[in-house]
Amino acid sequence: MNTVSDTIEKTKDVHEVVNSEKDKLKNKIPLKGMTLDELREYFIKTGEHRFRGEQVFKWMYSDLVVNYDEMLNIPKSLRSRLNNETILTTLKTTDTEQSSSTGTKKFIFETEERNKIESVIIPEKSRLAQDGQTRNRTTLCISTQVGCPLDCKFCATGLMGYKKNLTPGEIFDQYLLAARDYGKEKLTNIVYMGMGEPLLNFNATVKTLKIFAEELTTGVSLKKITVSTAGIAPKIKELADSGMKVKLAFSLHSCFEDTRNKIMPINKKYSLKENIEALKYYYRKTNTRITFEYVMLKNVNDRDEDINALAKLCSQMPSKINIIPFNSLQHMNPSGYAAELTPTPKHRIEEFAQRLREKNITVMVRNTQGDDISAACGQLAVKFK
Ligand code: SF4
Repeated sequence: MNTVSDTIEKTKDVHEVVNSEKDKLKNKIPLKGMTLDELREYFIKTGEHRFRGEQVFKWMYSDLVVNYDEMLNIPKSLRSRLNNETILTTLKTTDTEQSSSTGTKKFIFETEERNKIESVIIPEKSRLAQDGQTRNRTTLCISTQVGCPLDCKFCATGLMGYKKNLTPGEIFDQYLLAARDYGKEKLTNIVYMGMGEPLLNFNATVKTLKIFAEELTTGVSLKKITVSTAGIAPKIKELADSGMKVKLAFSLHSCFEDTRNKIMPINKKYSLKENIEALKYYYRKTNTRITFEYVMLKNVNDRDEDINALAKLCSQMPSKINIIPFNSLQHMNPSGYAAELTPTPKHRIEEFAQRLREKNITVMVRNTQGDDISAACGQLAVKFK
């Protein structure tokens, strides 16, 4: 029979093994998340030819392999060295859930430190494309942070608080794991609109855009990628200057500074006025029209004066408006101002959108697709451990 001291010794042993594994991982270099230039440099520095960087780049980001043994044109000895000295995978899929009515699929991933994040695949059938043809579109929504520090009052992620920035490898791995599960060729679009504010994790976000932009990466092109921001004005300009010509979605939600201050505290730091200047700059640099995201909140931003203010704002730059029905957060027991927010009724949303269309503004009313599995906009939240 085991004595108590045996059990303590065994527990100690297990802890030692786990800790030594962690230590080993800490000293390993994460290759996932490196750009093409960084990979070439890494291989040159370690005494290999630069083309090894290109080969590994293609295996990781285009062929989406999850272990070195699948990299068949890499010599066995090098694969074994890479296994010992570097890390290839960064996230683990811990759960998936799919809506039987819409096909929306939610993934829960776990980071090395056991933080949980979410990504969502949203299929849309027979959508009218810009060229007038109807096409299917399947969008993957990815996260850039664990939680979010911005505390927008209508957002489930905001209610969770903030834990950490994701690494470039962790951001890319959401695409990799979702694409392997769902079929890479089926994913047509990516939106950086999951948990977190992408522009507060700027370098990691831009690194992953650089990876998608490389010719060696066959997958979703930059033209089909949208980065969403709650309004970090200086970083909007920096993104414009980065050369990554992605679509930009601006979480507007009100054209009035005082309302924005209440529903999006970040507005107190970077005002709407400052952000509008940055958005105009973004349009001038990239020639890409801006999408304004607008969550409909009853008696907060759905009044007639909001329609007029939106029309005035849209006249200042090529843009369109995405109207998003608000998904109630009552199940998360919000406090303060967040507890007061309720959804605008459907008939008012339709009327609001129609009045804007009459002013020649392009308006889309987004489906609340995925709300049956808590995967709709503003519902991405996983309980911290
Ligand atoms: S809406 Fe976006 S920026 Fe605001 S709290 Fe939610 S995740 Fe963060």
